[in-house]
Amino acid sequence: MKNKVLILFLVALALSAVAAFAALPGRGQSQAGAKQSPSAAPDAQQAVSQPQAGVKLTAAIHESRPANASAASADLSAFAAAASKNLSLKEELAWAFGGKQQRGWYLYTSLIGGLLDTTDEAGSAGFAAALSRWQKGAGLAPTGVLDDETLYRMVSTWQGARIKSRAYPQPSELVTAPPAEFWDPSRPDELRQVRRDAYDAYKRMLAAAVADPSLKLAVTRTGELAPEEKFLKIVSSFRSREYQEQLRQRQPNAGRAGLAVNSPHFTGCALDLYVGGDPVDTKDANRALQVQTPAYQWLVRNAGKFGFRPYYYEPWHWEYVGASKAGGVEHVGVMK
Ligand SMILES: [Zn+2]
Repeated sequence: MKNKVLILFLVALALSAVAAFAALPGRGQSQAGAKQSPSAAPDAQQAVSQPQAGVKLTAAIHESRPANASAASADLSAFAAAASKNLSLKEELAWAFGGKQQRGWYLYTSLIGGLLDTTDEAGSAGFAAALSRWQKGAGLAPTGVLDDETLYRMVSTWQGARIKSRAYPQPSELVTAPPAEFWDPSRPDELRQVRRDAYDAYKRMLAAAVADPSLKLAVTRTGELAPEEKFLKIVSSFRSREYQEQLRQRQPNAGRAGLAVNSPHFTGCALDLYVGGDPVDTKDANRALQVQTPAYQWLVRNAGKFGFRPYYYEPWHWEYVGASKAGGVEHVGVMK
């Protein structure tokens, strides 16, 4: 009886040793690697055609993942169908925002590229691959297709990074910026106020833009934007509740996507900057023009470094959230 138990034990031990040997991740590595051919899945075929031993078959299947270079090209070819879908969804996707029907996401490709950390064209396999990585991180199916579910997730990511507070600044926190820094230099004093920290951040950002020769901004000898230069000048900054109400009454049918009742401009930290076209017109044709300008694309790439976050729907509207509050994780108050 004791012998039988011992034999059973030894058999079990031997079987588990074989199993462990077969499961070793590195088994067959050099063999499969040496015979690697350029095609996508040579190892699996080889394993099927040479089923010499159970151990070897298992090892070969473990090794069926191709080397890095061919993995990348296999990935991209896997995203060809997603890329072609994206090419049409970019113009055609039906979705809604602020109670208004929207069409396509072509107006947001710069912001989307920033989110996905890719410069690949929206209709390319590289873009679809980058999107699928982002989708995976966001807990979505990693299809590489920018459908409505993915777009809504992107919108909530952008919206979540904006300032939450609508608190009025103390009068002592506001500075009055000089008329020359405004798109309309005739704007009265009370409409040229900015919260001091937001204004300082804007000036630092502007200095960086002025120093970037690719923007070709007209500047004075002292490094300020020239009077005739309109790009990146301030269109609108702090607004009082009274002034916002006047603006709204001039636009009675603006709808929810129009002028906000509870505007972030109340904080003195929201700046509308000139990025081309009609300064603050949400018509698609106007925004299509604005998102193509070097000034806007520079802001998308650089404004975050200075503590500014975009309002994705209005290319001109940027909000100072503070350099130490990067990533949109802050929760300053609740909008009411
Ligand atoms: Zn604004």
